Amino acid sequence: MSRILITGGAGFIGSHLADRLLAAGHTVVVLDNLFTGHLRNISHLAGHERFRFIKHDVTEYIYVDGKVDVILHLASLPSPVDYLREPIKTLKVGALGTHKALGLARAHRATFLLASTSEVYGDPQVHPQPESYWGNVNPIGPRGVYDESKRFAEAMTMAYHRYHAIDTRICRIFNTYGPRMRVDDGRVVTNFIAQGLRGHPLTVYDDGSRTRSFCYVSDLVEGMVRLLESGEADPVNLGNPTEMTVLDFAKTVQRLTGGKSEIVFVSPKDERTKDDPHIRQPDVTRARKILRWDPVVGLEDGLQRTIEYFRTVLGADAL
Ligand code: NAD
Ligand code: UDP
Repeated sequence: MSRILITGGAGFIGSHLADRLLAAGHTVVVLDNLFTGHLRNISHLAGHERFRFIKHDVTEYIYVDGKVDVILHLASLPSPVDYLREPIKTLKVGALGTHKALGLARAHRATFLLASTSEVYGDPQVHPQPESYWGNVNPIGPRGVYDESKRFAEAMTMAYHRYHAIDTRICRIFNTYGPRMRVDDGRVVTNFIAQGLRGHPLTVYDDGSRTRSFCYVSDLVEGMVRLLESGEADPVNLGNPTEMTVLDFAKTVQRLTGGKSEIVFVSPKDERTKDDPHIRQPDVTRARKILRWDPVVGLEDGLQRTIEYFRTVLGADAL
């Protein structure tokens, strides 16, 4: 059994990884500054004998007592509204934070997994996106702070792999959803579900023709664990290849939340949709081959589970 450090482990995906790894018998240390994460995501783990929480900013020198066998580096500001509001923090956590986390991996000779993103492909000109595609990112656009920090993080991870012989993994995560997403994170899944449950209009940006492919969190976590165990240092895409337009996604959420909301088309005046990728779909050939992985949770099933969570979090009064 390993002692596993999860940076960003009080966030949405990190807290599910913590549950999964504790259930498998590992010891888990979550390191998080709670900037976008929340203690309620890990409060059920408090008092667990193999769990520990450290409140710390990964952009500062990291010290962890005792051995560390594995580092899962998830700390980040991954929601577009967060990185548009906090561009410098986003760059720092992606770049400086990854450097610190890799330094810790080197000190402990730990295996290091980077949670990267489909945003490294930018607004793609190859569709679906295979790992061999180098991407189409505007470095100076509003999304550049997130995209380029993750591209830098990938480059830094490969440099530690090549130069310091660190055992590394790079996981390129495509849009993932599920319980414990932050209600106000501004992403399309959370916006539409909260709007649908409250009977407010579902805000489709522009004409709703952009596409995304949504992966349920348990499928992603399974893929990340398999990648960790695989020994594969080159990037691997993890996401659900079922692609749909944002408008069709809105219609699905509208129906599943009770059909009381109308769909409205809005064009945000801020930079939310600047350089917003027009299409996105993972090519998961490598994950299938190397990890024998395929997502198994269908969209409606995953959305029902997420909607149930949102009902609880929002509370009857807020609906
Ligand atoms: P999240 O915001 O819920 O989790 C990120 C966590 O990092 C939060 O708990 C936050 O408090 C923490 N954090 C931020 N800055 C920090 C700092 N300086 N020091 C310590 N902790 C810090 O987001 P998530 O959706 O769970 O994303 C987790 C990872 O997966 C991120 O690296 C993200 O880039 C990647 N990812 C997520 C998606 C998705 O659809 N959710 C898609 C692609 C990539
Ligand atoms: N979007 C939308 N309405 C919303 C929020 C988002 O139409 O209320 C669109 C957004 O423009 C993008 C897609 O939904 O094309 C996914 O956005 P999200 O913020 O979830 O993540 P992204 O995939 O862009 O990182």
